[in-house]
Amino acid sequence: MDFNLTGIPAASSNNPDGIENVVILGAGPAGMSAALYAARADLNPLVITGMELGGQAALTYIIENYPGFPEGVGGMQLGELFQKQAERFGARFEFDVASEVNLSSRPFRIKTYGKEIQAKTLIVATGASPVHLRIPGETELTGKGVSYCATCDGWFFKDKKVAVVGGGDSAVEEGLFLTRFASTVNIIHRRDELRAGAILQDRAKKSEKIRFTWDTVIKEIRGKDAVEEIVLQNLKTGEERVEAVDGVFIFIGHKPNTQIFGGQLEMDSLGYISTDMQMRTNIAGVFAAGEIADPHYRQVVTSAGMGAAAAIQATRFLEQGEV
Ligand code: NAP
Repeated sequence: MDFNLTGIPAASSNNPDGIENVVILGAGPAGMSAALYAARADLNPLVITGMELGGQAALTYIIENYPGFPEGVGGMQLGELFQKQAERFGARFEFDVASEVNLSSRPFRIKTYGKEIQAKTLIVATGASPVHLRIPGETELTGKGVSYCATCDGWFFKDKKVAVVGGGDSAVEEGLFLTRFASTVNIIHRRDELRAGAILQDRAKKSEKIRFTWDTVIKEIRGKDAVEEIVLQNLKTGEERVEAVDGVFIFIGHKPNTQIFGGQLEMDSLGYISTDMQMRTNIAGVFAAGEIADPHYRQVVTSAGMGAAAAIQATRFLEQGEV
């Protein structure tokens, strides 16, 4: 990989050689927890936040399953608390995006939009992004009624009819959130049973605003300047029909944000970074934590735990060499 250092200013670090002890990519629960633990190990970590400070958790209206908050905590608020706690011990946060990494030798080199950074250890916590349906009208009408975030866009659908696609926790949770604004929420699921947890299912089934359309997919989203209607197909009967809606919220899972690590870090068949139990990747000194390396749990608490483990391991690596 051509990785030109010329003319790119180095990031400031507390080390005389300007090389960072620990660089953390991503500021979701995994990155924030890694920052806290690395800061408390006096490593003065640098977090490159990416575009989504707080990660996907920050887009969640209320998180009810993070321990320590019996009444729940706002996703954004939890992100801010994580950050404050890490900063208290010396973590530095830069709102920037890593566009290229070179992990072929140490120090690792990380190119962002603003600078180039060298790091003794790297913790990858870049999370995942929503999967798209890839149907006609989806891209064209994104931001014009098609959305992947109810917390961000729900407000625009006051007294309007919305469709929600998916049958997992996200679809049901976000569907419930949308009942605050929308007149009706039609949860469209390709099977006839939900994947979502029992508590969420129960709440959704009790909601007067939510209805379910089973065994059905959306084939097309139509509208001139905004979403106007969707074409639905029943997978059991093959029947197609058109339904008028003002918004389509899509929650059909996530894909890991691993693009810049291709050819360097080992990944599984789904593109998640492969790690061992100590969050070690195939490259000594590079660790991965959170949803980037976790296709199984994807919870705030598990991501935070992985971030803490990665930082502890990075600390050991710096103290003892390869661990
Ligand atoms: P998910 O559990 O993978 O569910 C994705 C849903 O989308 C499934 O119902 C799936 O259908 C459907 N789907 C996938 N591809 C589709 C397609 N092309 N067309 C139509 N439907 C499609 O994803 P998630 O709901 O985002 O949850 C991800 C993880 O985060 C899970 O582990 C979940 O437990 C966790 N989470 C937890 C909470 C919470 O605890 N409160 C909240 C949000 C997320 P099938 O069911 O047929 O596969």
